[in-house]
Amino acid sequence: MSHDHDHDNELDPFAARVRALETILTEKGLIDPSAIDVIVETYETKIGPRNGARVVAKAWSDPTYADWLKRDATAAIASMSYTGQGEHMQAVFNTEDTHNLVVCTLCSCYPWSVLGLPPVWYKAPPYRSRAVIDPRGVLEEFGLTLPKDKKIRVWDSTAELRYLVVPMRPEGTEGWSEEQLAGLVSRDAMIGTALAKKAGIKGQPA
Ligand code: FE
Repeated sequence: MSHDHDHDNELDPFAARVRALETILTEKGLIDPSAIDVIVETYETKIGPRNGARVVAKAWSDPTYADWLKRDATAAIASMSYTGQGEHMQAVFNTEDTHNLVVCTLCSCYPWSVLGLPPVWYKAPPYRSRAVIDPRGVLEEFGLTLPKDKKIRVWDSTAELRYLVVPMRPEGTEGWSEEQLAGLVSRDAMIGTALAKKAGIKGQPA
């Protein structure tokens, strides 16, 4: 029999292994699927990227905090009660000369405490390999074309050390509150696949 039908109704091997593991652990009474759902939902909706956006907004507003974040991101972030699973954090600041991009080439290490759950593309092999080989091309696919003379620095996350990109503060945001500033900071801007949103009027994104 030919094998050219598609397998849309089947799980990919990784998802199938996860499903099998979950079934066994549930049957043995070792986990409660509803408890797992709560954890996932917490990271998706409560701990989402808003934590990171508040860190960035505070750094934009408070030079002392920005300096602390630069020197010891783990402590500066923990001071806002955002803590992860014990990994260290490093904040990498975008400048006029350098743009920062975060990847985990090995698997999918991601700063959960500030960004919540990683997007699907972050975990996908094409992003993980190409972010290192051709960061400029990857950014263009995200719709971000940087000036040719701007350096791109790629940071490879590990289980022990994870990165938060601090995008440049948009022009025209003088006098904005931290709350308003945080509204300009997307998850992608803190991974480095986007910039902070442009400022519109009355403290809103353009
Ligand atoms: Fe990883």
